[in-house]
Amino acid sequence: MCLRLTHPAARYILIDGAEGRIVIGQDSSSEAILPHCASRGCYANAIFLSDYCWEHTSDKTRYRIGIEALVKKCDTLSGASFVKACFDGLNLAGAVLTGATMAGTRLVGANLSRASLVGCNLRAADLSESNLERADLNESNLDGAILVRANLSGAILDECILQRANLQGAHAEGASLRRAEMSHSCCVDADFTNADLSSASLDGACLAGAIFADAVLDDAILGGCVMPCANLDGAHLNRANLVGTYLRGASIRGGQLVRARLGRADLTEVEASGAVMSRAILREANLSRANLAGADLTGAILERAILKGADLTGASTSGATLTGADMDSVIM
Ligand SMILES: [Zn+2]
Repeated sequence: MCLRLTHPAARYILIDGAEGRIVIGQDSSSEAILPHCASRGCYANAIFLSDYCWEHTSDKTRYRIGIEALVKKCDTLSGASFVKACFDGLNLAGAVLTGATMAGTRLVGANLSRASLVGCNLRAADLSESNLERADLNESNLDGAILVRANLSGAILDECILQRANLQGAHAEGASLRRAEMSHSCCVDADFTNADLSSASLDGACLAGAIFADAVLDDAILGGCVMPCANLDGAHLNRANLVGTYLRGASIRGGQLVRARLGRADLTEVEASGAVMSRAILREANLSRANLAGADLTGAILERAILKGADLTGASTSGATLTGADMDSVIM
């Protein structure tokens, strides 16, 4: 049995009864030093400043009020463990939760605006409708997290893990998601207007109806993404990988797609007027009925591409490779 005492100078002091070992939990970055829950037969780790896991913490309301009070006092909660705790609707604005462990924690509707969540473990956490405006989530792990209708506007999520995360209807306007790992995430109807997703990995993601207007997606991986009717107006997709991407009915007006890889992509009825697609690879892409008026296709590779009924009025195709392309009913 471990005796765990809080101490003003340290985060906690842990006295191991069997060995008389004293562990000062100031450096709580290591999960290994977290004691087990004091409840008999429970092997879950105790949560921050409690002898018990969340399930066995008796007065949950008091615990929640205590955490809110610590945040209000600007006490740091760095490295704290709140595994599976229920913090729905809590006001944690500006909280310092760097390196905290919040796997499976419920934070539905919680206010985490401007919070520091750098390097946090938020795997499978429920952050639906939470306010993460301008929060710093750099290098945090949100694998499988639920962020439905969350407010991520202006948030920093560089090198964040968002694999299989649900971002349906999330607001991420102006967010920074550079090199974020978002493969197989669901971002249906999410808003990434003006966001920076350069070098982000979104392969296999569902991006139907998502808004990427004026977003930066240079060098991003969007191969195999399903993004019908997505809004990519003015987006930068230079050198982006869009191989086999389903973009039917999407809008890329004035987009920058220099050297983008769009082989076998479905661009049927795409609105791409004025888009810069110079040296883009569109081999075997389906551009049926696409609006490419005024587009720059200089040096683009359109081998065996389907351009049936596409509008190429005023488009520049000098140096483009059109070998085997289906040019039936093309409007020039
Ligand atoms: Zn327990």
